[in-house]
Amino acid sequence: MRVLVIGAGPAGTRCAVRIAERLPGTEIVLAGAESALPYDRIALSKVLEGRAEVGDIITHPVGVLRAKGIAYRPATRIVALDCVGRAAVTEKGERVGYDACVIATGSRAARLPLPGADLPGVLLYRDLSDVLAMRRAAMAGGPAVVIGGGLLGLEAAAGLAHAGMKVTVIHAVDWPMERQLDAEAGAMLARRLGARGIRFAMPAKTAAIAGDGRAEAVLLADGTRIPARLVVMSVGIRPETGLAAAAGLAMARGIVVDDQMRTSDPAVFAIGECAEHGGKLIGLVAPALEQAEIAAEAIAGGATAWAPRTDSAALKVSGTAVWSAGEIAPADAEVVTLRDEGTDAYRRFWLREGRLVGAVLYGDTDDSGFYLNLITSGCSVAPFRAALAMGPAYVKVAA
Ligand SMILES: Cc1cc2nc3c(=O)[nH]c(=O)nc-3n(C[C@H](O)[C@H](O)[C@H](O)COP(=O)(O)OP(=O)(O)OC[C@H]3O[C@@H](n4cnc5c(N)ncnc54)[C@H](O)[C@@H]3O)c2cc1C
Repeated sequence: MRVLVIGAGPAGTRCAVRIAERLPGTEIVLAGAESALPYDRIALSKVLEGRAEVGDIITHPVGVLRAKGIAYRPATRIVALDCVGRAAVTEKGERVGYDACVIATGSRAARLPLPGADLPGVLLYRDLSDVLAMRRAAMAGGPAVVIGGGLLGLEAAAGLAHAGMKVTVIHAVDWPMERQLDAEAGAMLARRLGARGIRFAMPAKTAAIAGDGRAEAVLLADGTRIPARLVVMSVGIRPETGLAAAAGLAMARGIVVDDQMRTSDPAVFAIGECAEHGGKLIGLVAPALEQAEIAAEAIAGGATAWAPRTDSAALKVSGTAVWSAGEIAPADAEVVTLRDEGTDAYRRFWLREGRLVGAVLYGDTDDSGFYLNLITSGCSVAPFRAALAMGPAYVKVAA
């Protein structure tokens, strides 16, 4: 049995490891376009902030992979997939045959089609090479602009500010992280980051990036000019699906998969951010790793079905504690709020038919696991509703 895993991000690497454990003796090739060893992508913010070095975030040293019988091929981009001949072709023209193939090509960061978007000094935030380029640019100091005030944009902004740059975040709507936070938590977060020197232009629309040979400023639609030696675009992700589409696999926004992560070709699986299950894409690491487990099991002959769980997200900026899960500010839900202006702590919960459907914690996120369990279990919170916002210790007393 020969298995080819395309993409050595968290999903692809986890899948290769699990196949090796389930089917000892299998010939496994893990082909990754990046030149680094498999690393923890969500820890990139730590590298940017200088709280970790590259070596600290490597998850699978080459010896570990080799000991498991996995042939890791770094800097190996697969450029074509021949589903009939069951082989993939590398950038260098080499054919790699397989009996089962797992596509785990993830996503790429989107680039806004603005005038000046391709100027030197305009970077994206997705992989290790982006972070190292940002660190080099930050060493010279000066003004930086981050376009996009979502979770990744704020992590980039905090990292650049920590490195000594004067950072402005341009965000299209009224508060940052609007997909994870309600307006009040968003405003508190903007104030907290503002106190650390990060400026916000919001709501604001970016019109162009100006510069003579390299980025010098960002121009807003209202004519404002914001100086920038470095511009980081953090405006969303697009599933990396070109390979699968060219191979003729069934596509929607991502590579269409069934409950076992199998594509329209039964010998080819797709997992992680490139896969689309039940009409939905994922954008977080936990479900990507779960899908990796499911595909490995299916390749080994199992048939467990993958089912999406409630998404939760935390901002990884030192000195801020922000977490949210489930539905944020749905119009048809009841609201429970706890606000402590003395400690700058805030909690908001959304309830429907006596059940918790969404939560935002700001300032103190220690109880996040408790609230995530309440959301995913769908149990009634009516018996302890009055104590809900106070956390598990109080809920026990009230229940
Ligand atoms: C800075 C940052 C912070 C994040 N923080 C969080 C967080 O706090 N919590 C969270 O849940 N998620 C976070 N995420 C998202 C998380 O990293 C992704 O959900 C996760 O990495 C998805 O894993 P994946 O394996 O599907 O894809 P990816 O991690 O994108 O890996 C895909 C790999 O495939 C490679 N590849 C692509 N095409 C080819 C090809 N043709 N041939 C060979 N290789 C190829 C790519 O180079 C890449 O290495 C963060 C992402 C970033 C960028």
